[in-house]
Amino acid sequence: MAHLLRGLTADGGVRVIAADTTDLVADAVARHDARPTAGAALGRTLTGALLLSHVLLGHHRDRVTIRVQGDGPLGGVIADAGLDGTVRGYVGNPNADLPLRSDGKLDVGGVVGPGGSIEVTRSHAPYGEPFTSSVDLVSGEIAEDVAGFLARSEQIASAVMLGVYFENDAVHTAGGIVVQAMPDVQPAAIDLLEANVKAYGAVTDGLRRGSLLESMHEVAWGMDLHILTDEAIPLSFSCRCSDEKALAALAFFSPEERASMIVEDGGAETVCHWCGTKRWIEPDAIRSLDRVPEVRCPDCGTLWYRDAGTVMTREGERCSCGRSVVLPN
Ligand SMILES: [Zn+2]
Ligand SMILES: [Zn+2]
Repeated sequence: MAHLLRGLTADGGVRVIAADTTDLVADAVARHDARPTAGAALGRTLTGALLLSHVLLGHHRDRVTIRVQGDGPLGGVIADAGLDGTVRGYVGNPNADLPLRSDGKLDVGGVVGPGGSIEVTRSHAPYGEPFTSSVDLVSGEIAEDVAGFLARSEQIASAVMLGVYFENDAVHTAGGIVVQAMPDVQPAAIDLLEANVKAYGAVTDGLRRGSLLESMHEVAWGMDLHILTDEAIPLSFSCRCSDEKALAALAFFSPEERASMIVEDGGAETVCHWCGTKRWIEPDAIRSLDRVPEVRCPDCGTLWYRDAGTVMTREGERCSCGRSVVLPN
């Protein structure tokens, strides 16, 4: 079972957040039918989002979303996580794959592409505006990019390790560790940490040698690490999609387009891009959308407003075709 542990050194100078995400990354890779290099990029980003939620969030309903947009064949990767231990995510192209690097590792930096940015959004549901901040990618390897984000956007010094290890094209081990230097950290502790992290090596090697707890103590060797989580926090791949939301998405098609789905296909299949769940929508449900009054752009047919208070576009905004939006009172 995927789980997360948190620890703090006795002097309060260093925080360690660690996760074994093997099961949930295997679940995600299967849901999206991702090739190993694309799957590794997805798994690292999912794990990074779960760890980052413990660095950046305060409330159990807050969410953090990481969007890594590089210039490689992956076409971007996105993950959304919360302190409740749930995460979901997807990649632009799950078939993106590259030959192994000369050191035998998956070429995640190559598939993501080093040119681009990492964008992190914190949303404080159900109140408050989402807050987004982004920095340039360091390498596209994800872990270095998350560390770069923490350093440049948040002024947090950290070491970030993320890894997914495949065996025979199946996820064998996945996990990650964030070691965060707190503001009052002793300079000697930073030197020791750097040496520890170097000696520890790759997180997937650490998790194959021993338990997650042992990995944390290896990384914080000589620093009197106290584990703060009495019980490990369970982690899972979990989406918030539903039959209702899938049907609501069909509202964006015009009534004529919906009618032709019924005539030509006998219904409609929707696929959730976050989790890959396929849903079949019956003709009666599709027709029910026609009974809800709506306002569309007279020029291009884009949905502006639906009764039941769903405003897609605000008064005075530009429609995608350029026309100024006018809504009835
Ligand atoms: Zn979903
Ligand atoms: Zn329009």
